[in-house]
Amino acid sequence: MVKIKKNIKSQLKDASGRYQVFDGLLEGLHVVNFDWQCLYINAAVLINSKIGRDEMLGKTIMEIYPGIEKTELFAKMKHCMESRVAYILEDKSPFAGRKDAWFEFSIQPSPEGVFMLSLDITDRRKIKEKEEYIKKLEELDEAKTEFLSVASHQLRTPVGGILWNLEMLLHNELGELPPQVKEVLQETYETDLRVAALVKNLLAVSRIEQKRAVSEPVPTNIVDVLKKVLAIMDAEAQNRKIVLKTEIPDGLPQVMVDPERFYEVMENLYSNAIKYTPEGGTINLKVAKGDSKIVVSVADNGIGIPKEDQEKIFSKFFRASNASKISTEGSGLGLYIASSYAKEWGGKIWFESNLGKGSVFNVSVPVQ
Ligand code: ADP
Repeated sequence: MVKIKKNIKSQLKDASGRYQVFDGLLEGLHVVNFDWQCLYINAAVLINSKIGRDEMLGKTIMEIYPGIEKTELFAKMKHCMESRVAYILEDKSPFAGRKDAWFEFSIQPSPEGVFMLSLDITDRRKIKEKEEYIKKLEELDEAKTEFLSVASHQLRTPVGGILWNLEMLLHNELGELPPQVKEVLQETYETDLRVAALVKNLLAVSRIEQKRAVSEPVPTNIVDVLKKVLAIMDAEAQNRKIVLKTEIPDGLPQVMVDPERFYEVMENLYSNAIKYTPEGGTINLKVAKGDSKIVVSVADNGIGIPKEDQEKIFSKFFRASNASKISTEGSGLGLYIASSYAKEWGGKIWFESNLGKGSVFNVSVPVQ
């Protein structure tokens, strides 16, 4: 086909007549001739460009947008010019002024050369990028939970086996051992007990995160469970010269909880109260009955929780600054697990605390 070239002035005049209707369009419009000269641009282009309309018309788009010839947009325009095929593509804008802007370009053949619409999709793109980022974080989190699950499962058996063997030795089942050896074994046993507790907590966390921690609430006598917890805690409290008080009213109804989970929650709150209360302190266990729930509170007059740490106290692995100073033992997982368990039975855990004065942790349980 022989192209009869008109001079640029008449091309500009023709284009301005033909494309004027596009001036109010939301999309930007460039009409470019076969010599890459810009014959028409609409008002929307001017919003994104620092250059005035008169400076653009008649110039090549390479002059207007230096570097455009290295972009995919240019390659597609070129192909459209030569092969008369249309393209739609999303790309960063080569337009002056806004380097971070994304556009959707629609490139179509026109009698003069190429007709290119551009729609600013920067906001849409940002939302998409954010969604992709969140998805990546979720995938990472899943991988971490999977790792936690595998690692804690793998550790459980050997840690349990070591405990078993040490118990055998300490109980003289393989003969009487010299006192010095026994002392070392006892220390090793206590260390292994702590590792076993940590592994148990990690396993519980991975089950919670994989939503595999299904509990089975059954009618439960709350006082029986609390007595078991108190019996276990008694020796430790005596060791630390801590007084344990209880206020448990008679005639409490049964509650709907998974008894093992309820035991674990109360054990955690109680052992925390003992751990974070100095010698000679007092811990008060109180049970109060409401219409549809029972609230169990554990109050201590221990170290308390600093105000700035209070909102993070139920987060995984979080330990308040004053707690780490007085006790290096602790993983910061107990309250995270306890609050997840309480949610499972339709209850919750909350607390009030004053630094240096003490804390009260409350747990609610639904009555049957
Ligand atoms: P851990 O006791 O193993 O550190 P927890 O998840 O049970 O983990 O508790 C998280 C943190 O909450 C503790 O490290 C401590 O800072 C704070 N905490 C919990 N109970 C008490 C308490 N009774 N008194 C003071 N601080 C407490």
